[in-house]
Amino acid sequence: MHPALLTFRLFQAENPLRNAAGIFILTTFFYFVGAELRLVEALSLFWPLNGVMAGVFARYAYLNRIHYYAVSYVAMLVYDVVTTSWGMASLIINLSNMVFIVTVALLVLRDKRMLKKTPDPLNALRLFNYCLIAALLCALLGAVGSVGIDSQTFWPLFADWFSEQFSTGVLIVPCMLTVSVPVKQIRLRPERLLPVLALIVSVMASVVIGGAGSLAFPLPALIWCAVRYSLPATCLLTFITGAAEVILVANGIINIAVAAPLSTPMMFSARLGIATMAICPIMVSVSMAAINSLIQQVSLRADYDFLTQVYSRSGLYEALKEEETHRHSRYLTVMLLDIDYFKNINDNYGHECGDRVLAVFARQVRNVVGEDGLVARMGGEEFAVVVYSEDAKHGVELAERIRVTIAHHPFTWRQQTLFLTVSIGLGSGRPGARQLTEVFNKLLAEADDHLYRSKKAGRNRTSAHFPDEQA
Ligand code: GH3
Ligand code: MG
Ligand code: MG
Repeated sequence: MHPALLTFRLFQAENPLRNAAGIFILTTFFYFVGAELRLVEALSLFWPLNGVMAGVFARYAYLNRIHYYAVSYVAMLVYDVVTTSWGMASLIINLSNMVFIVTVALLVLRDKRMLKKTPDPLNALRLFNYCLIAALLCALLGAVGSVGIDSQTFWPLFADWFSEQFSTGVLIVPCMLTVSVPVKQIRLRPERLLPVLALIVSVMASVVIGGAGSLAFPLPALIWCAVRYSLPATCLLTFITGAAEVILVANGIINIAVAAPLSTPMMFSARLGIATMAICPIMVSVSMAAINSLIQQVSLRADYDFLTQVYSRSGLYEALKEEETHRHSRYLTVMLLDIDYFKNINDNYGHECGDRVLAVFARQVRNVVGEDGLVARMGGEEFAVVVYSEDAKHGVELAERIRVTIAHHPFTWRQQTLFLTVSIGLGSGRPGARQLTEVFNKLLAEADDHLYRSKKAGRNRTSAHFPDEQA
């Protein structure tokens, strides 16, 4: 399991002791991981602690209290006291870790506060900048703090510290902010794996071809992943790719060595390049998530009528296509309802009143129909109700109940009472094995005929073919 998953149930807003213990354990664990990585030559390039803790603090707003920061800091100091002989230098070095953690967390939280309505789990571009700022501050302090150790000078230390913090931050923090336990079972179809396969091939191409350009080879594959996979998966794959590249470059397996005029250390440049590349798929993935959620909203808008909260005409057809439960009902009744003299309401009381009347009318119809059928606004002040029943009479009875309910419940508008009536036409038949939408269209035309009859006969009535000409 990804270690970040453990943090899910680790923290609870109302349980400070548990939170403090959680922070202490996490800090110690990732300090340990970082220290162990440093022992292995090939992996001595990562200090994951800061990115992980920045992600934790940024994710759980209630952890951003000075005493929780202090717990994390103390955990680092304790680790150093037990395992190193850095003495006072440890105070500054670990303070620089805290600077990175707190800077990223506070900046991300500030965004969350300011953009409350945006559901995006992260803003990739901003996060990139925040890691940059945090890495600069952290490196400044860290380099000052470690000048004495190993007799190194300031600038190489600063470059090393900065590039390492920045790249690790850009790779880890998006993962920490988005990681979640998958809610649905992911079905693995072979073609779903193609983007990952492309990613592996492109990293291999970096190794084989090498040179300055090779670091960018995985970018198209990563963007393909961003388009196909979820945001958390994209963040994770980007992290793995970036980390793999850092390791491959550092060990000379990807050879990017070129004679640069500034003779910048190779790792400094490589890390910045990898961080710059890593943010691109995350930006794409965030955009994809936003587009998908918009599409979902739009289709919801299209299926329902905004004013009356019943199905729209197209939404009704969609619902009929999916309707399976009533397939075996014997009868299908389609009612067409048209409010009588509705134009007068608009003319006498204004459009706003007309809109309110439509909304209340639809609610009353929905209440009467209940679970027995579907209600849709077909346009203007015309509604349709689709009812499945065992016998033909049920539809007529329901129509009458709607008509009587509307007539008996006057509408109040600015202390005035408006009496409303509705004319209804019915079409009913046996669905048989035909497509529901096809049956519906036929019955709708029948209902329209009968609606016309209701209007002609003086309104406020129901007309149907069955059981009598006039019900
Ligand atoms: P009838 O008894 O013959 O049905 O008379 P009516 O006045 O209801 O007939 P008609 O169908 O001509 O009038 C419908 C009116 O509904 C015309 C239009 O201005 C109004 N209308 C259509 N959609 C809306 C809406 O969304 N809001 C409001 N306020 N009025 C609407
Ligand atoms: Mg009308
Ligand atoms: Mg009309």
